[in-house]
Amino acid sequence: MAAAELSDSIVEPLLAWYDRGRRILPWREEPTPYHVWLSEIMLQQTRVEAVKPYYDRFLQALPDIDSLAYVEEDRLLKLWEGLGYYNRARNLKKAAQIVAEKYGGRMPEEYEAILSLPGIGSYTAGAIASIAFGKSYPAVDGNVLRILSRLRVDDRDILDAKVKKAVETELACVMPKERPGDFNQALMELGATVCIPNGAPKCENCPWGAFCLARQEERIAEFPKKAKKKPRRIEERTILVIQDADRVALRKRPDRGLLAGMYEFPSLEGHCKERQVASYLKELGLSPIRIRELPPAKHVFTHKEWHMIGYLVRVDELADMEAGENPQAFVFVEPKETKSAYPIPSAFAAYAEQVEMGRKK
Ligand code: SF4
Repeated sequence: MAAAELSDSIVEPLLAWYDRGRRILPWREEPTPYHVWLSEIMLQQTRVEAVKPYYDRFLQALPDIDSLAYVEEDRLLKLWEGLGYYNRARNLKKAAQIVAEKYGGRMPEEYEAILSLPGIGSYTAGAIASIAFGKSYPAVDGNVLRILSRLRVDDRDILDAKVKKAVETELACVMPKERPGDFNQALMELGATVCIPNGAPKCENCPWGAFCLARQEERIAEFPKKAKKKPRRIEERTILVIQDADRVALRKRPDRGLLAGMYEFPSLEGHCKERQVASYLKELGLSPIRIRELPPAKHVFTHKEWHMIGYLVRVDELADMEAGENPQAFVFVEPKETKSAYPIPSAFAAYAEQVEMGRKK
């Protein structure tokens, strides 16, 4: 069923509501293209309150697009550690390099040029173009799709890219030419604070409460419509925290794919018994003094879940092998370096905690 047309009567109440009570957020204070871009990338999959300290720390270390373009990858990933989805950080750097080389370090103003940069989709391009440059482009993400689907009892699947495209076109026709950035931010704000994704929306505070169809028809829980996703693939892994008195063994993940280029603990596929671990260690030329089982842990990615078990392995001395070109080779690092130079993804957080603990024993 086609959704009701969007009317420009949604604009005034939304902007008036935004003007009355918008939140003070660090990236709104000085909305340069870099600030808008960085904040929008950080806010994907992460809550505003969680992003704030990362945003401040990141800007202190890399205050402009040029500094981001030339930062060492390990330093960049360390600054990103805890936010997850590390490809977002890598794409930031790649895009910054293009901006530095092709545009002299200044973000281009044209929507199409912004959209062509790595890691920038139509939502982020719309946010930068409208908030930083005052251009009339919508910024449509899942939040906006949710609100508009409730407003119009729109039963199209919001996960369908064609639906998103159609909503972008519809919204572009009604957004105010004189305040496009505020209009987009007001929609974001409405999705974050009133027409929220989990739990009951706060319709009594909503600027559209008087004419929202889902509210009138008492059908809010039916919207948004989403086609069922495929279940995530489960992967079992056995994580090994291998330490001698001073150092712990890590290896660098391949440069492509999941958690590319990050450091991880050695691991084995499947859930291995202690004797299988012992035989793997033997293959590596290591003689364990002690092997202790660690608690299981789980990490959920977008398309898969890791179900992990682990072992703390104490050896007399880690052999002096360096990673070199071989991605399977190990590096041996002091525990404090796992907090500075060697970014370990949060997927291994439960086992990273064991590094310091292991040393005390
Ligand atoms: S009235 Fe309620 S359901 Fe409708 S848009 Fe506002 S918060 Fe969402």
